[in-house]
Amino acid sequence: MTHNLPPIPFSPPRIDDKTIAEVISALQSGWITTGPRTKEFEKRIAQYVGVDKVVCLNSASAGLELMLRWFGVQEGDEVIVPAYTYCATANVVVHCGAKPVMVDVNANDFNINIQNIEKAITEKTKVIIPVDFAGLPCDYDELNQLASNENIRKKFTPRTLTQKQLGRILILSDAAHSIGAIYKGKRTGALTDVTVFSFHAVKNLTTAEGGAICLNLPEPFNLEEIYKQLCIKSLHGQSKDALAKTQIGNWRYDVCEAGYKCNMTDILAAIGLVELERYENDMLLKRKYIFDKYTEAFSKDKRFEIPIFETDTKKSSYHVYPLRIKNTTENERDAIIQQVAMQNISVNVHFIPLPMLSFYKSAGYNIQDFSVAYDNYAREISLPVYYDLTDEQIERVIRAMMGASS
Ligand SMILES: *Cc1c(COP(=O)(O)O)cnc(C)c1O
Repeated sequence: MTHNLPPIPFSPPRIDDKTIAEVISALQSGWITTGPRTKEFEKRIAQYVGVDKVVCLNSASAGLELMLRWFGVQEGDEVIVPAYTYCATANVVVHCGAKPVMVDVNANDFNINIQNIEKAITEKTKVIIPVDFAGLPCDYDELNQLASNENIRKKFTPRTLTQKQLGRILILSDAAHSIGAIYKGKRTGALTDVTVFSFHAVKNLTTAEGGAICLNLPEPFNLEEIYKQLCIKSLHGQSKDALAKTQIGNWRYDVCEAGYKCNMTDILAAIGLVELERYENDMLLKRKYIFDKYTEAFSKDKRFEIPIFETDTKKSSYHVYPLRIKNTTENERDAIIQQVAMQNISVNVHFIPLPMLSFYKSAGYNIQDFSVAYDNYAREISLPVYYDLTDEQIERVIRAMMGASS
């Protein structure tokens, strides 16, 4: 039985002696919640991506929501999101009482389509959340130009001071997949107003759970000030964090708003520091190596459509390898996945489009309005990509896919 083959998981984290040693030393330091390691991790991410201020949190979802709240997004507002993303992108909009306005994506690279965004903009639009699907940056020049366009600006109807200060739609990038990716010489994080990374267990750079907000807002915003506000917002609106309160006699604090509780812990930051140190010259190289191996094999076979992960202007972070099967149906795709699973290989589908999920379906979204997202989804299979994947395992994945698709 093929079941006897050793399993190939989809995306296990890279955990070795170095990671374990750092976590132990965080535990032994006596400081386990937000503290020096988190602050160091924030600084190093900022250096890596090329921005001045980064706030670490316990998830990307928290980061996206915190920024929507910071911008004053509320009931009656609209936020544009791709129909083809993880539910977090739209759920955070719902949490704020606003309406996620879904738009269809590109057939070639899966990313949000700029013309479709333009058509979806109304007087109620406050934020656009592009998603760098699979690690490939969106068309940020076009997106930023759209937000700054004279006629689009005229439509913008600010309701809060922050919105007045910006004077246009905020671009809040969901870069959960794309830390380390490059667009026209700049890394994600530095490509638009605000960018949020995820450090969830399956992501390229993990802290088990975690996320970061990269602040890149234009004048007149004071990033140091916003950094402080966001730290307070992530800790119940408390004017002093636990570390500040440890100073002897420094016990008194105030609460200026009913904030959230979504700060990062130093135990998680310890994992992140190790991950970041070896990210660019080790993790990304390995991921690119795997992408190239898959591409070499599948491009020789007419049944497959190879994903775009490098162009003249873009370089992916090689997060997900979204292979598509040509001329197939959703059911046939599911059957292929089943056959590959029989070989003890774990593959995935990124993503079930939001309009197909019960919550959004019952809220009135209809997948028939998003034909490209559906077609991408119906033909897509994401292949295993992770640091410890061996050449032999890559070959097994290729053989299994080739065999199953015939
Ligand atoms: C994983 C993911 C998120 C959420 O990240 P968390 O850190 O788990 O909150 C958001 N958007 C996309 C596209 C994701 O894949």
